[in-house]
Amino acid sequence: MSYTSVIKKELTQLETDVCCKRAELSALVRMNGTIQLQNRKVLLDITTENPSTARHMFTLIKSLYAVQPEVLVRRKIRLKKNHVFVIRISETANDILSDLCILKKDSWERIEGISTHLFRDEFCSRAYLRGAFLAGGSVNNPDSASYHLEIVSTYDDHSIALCKLMNDMYLHAKVIERKKGYVVYIKEGDKIGEFLNIIGAHPSLLKFENVRIMKDMRNSVNRLVNCETANLNKTISAAMRQIENIRLIEETMGLETLPEKLREVAVVRLQHPDVNLAELGQLLATGGISKSAVNHRFRKIEQIASGIRDRHKGG
Ligand SMILES: [Zn+2]
Repeated sequence: MSYTSVIKKELTQLETDVCCKRAELSALVRMNGTIQLQNRKVLLDITTENPSTARHMFTLIKSLYAVQPEVLVRRKIRLKKNHVFVIRISETANDILSDLCILKKDSWERIEGISTHLFRDEFCSRAYLRGAFLAGGSVNNPDSASYHLEIVSTYDDHSIALCKLMNDMYLHAKVIERKKGYVVYIKEGDKIGEFLNIIGAHPSLLKFENVRIMKDMRNSVNRLVNCETANLNKTISAAMRQIENIRLIEETMGLETLPEKLREVAVVRLQHPDVNLAELGQLLATGGISKSAVNHRFRKIEQIASGIRDRHKGG
């Protein structure tokens, strides 16, 4: 089962109050519902490919309205071989649609956006997001290369309202228009975690956060290793430069012409080309001197060497 399916299954097992059930069902019907006229009768079909969502929608409808929905199963011919589940309401469809704030009362006119009448308590808006995720949501497995959660919806006004609802909860959501409709998405790992928390997917959230923490840890270890490597490279190239300078002095003036302190450090460097400045300081016969003192001596050597190079160029 995909990570998205696991989350959806979890979401359909939550116990919620009547007001929240209504908000959740409203999102499901608005996003996955279609109305059609058959033999002068209005049919409301709500479709899903997810069996737990289908069962859940059936239960929600039964618990909120005195109707007997039909359940139809169709096989998708093209694309995937998945079943498509259709929950069909053939009685009082218009009343239900207006109670769910999708259609205006006694009319077939669609209400734009998301009606605030759906939100009776602080949990209703979370329930609406849960319904929206069940209807058109998916999320990348936390192991995958990038974090991505999206909810696809047909109407732009609804997507914009959904995005706003999410951003009222500081989820950093954005909307983009794609072929399949309008897509509200979240790209930040911690915000996806917050979204899963808000809609009540707690076991999946734990998995998501565990993987995320592991991934972040791996990244910072990598960063650390890269950093160490960079430092090491810096040490090596500095040492190579020092040796180059010392060799030049040795070949031209001879090391014995150097002041005692500089000669000492030069000789030890030639003997230990791969140690860093601090270690080199400890190796000196005159007793340990600090890294910056060693660095100071190498700067002097550098000056002498570049003097030789200048003279060489000039002559
Ligand atoms: Zn509620």
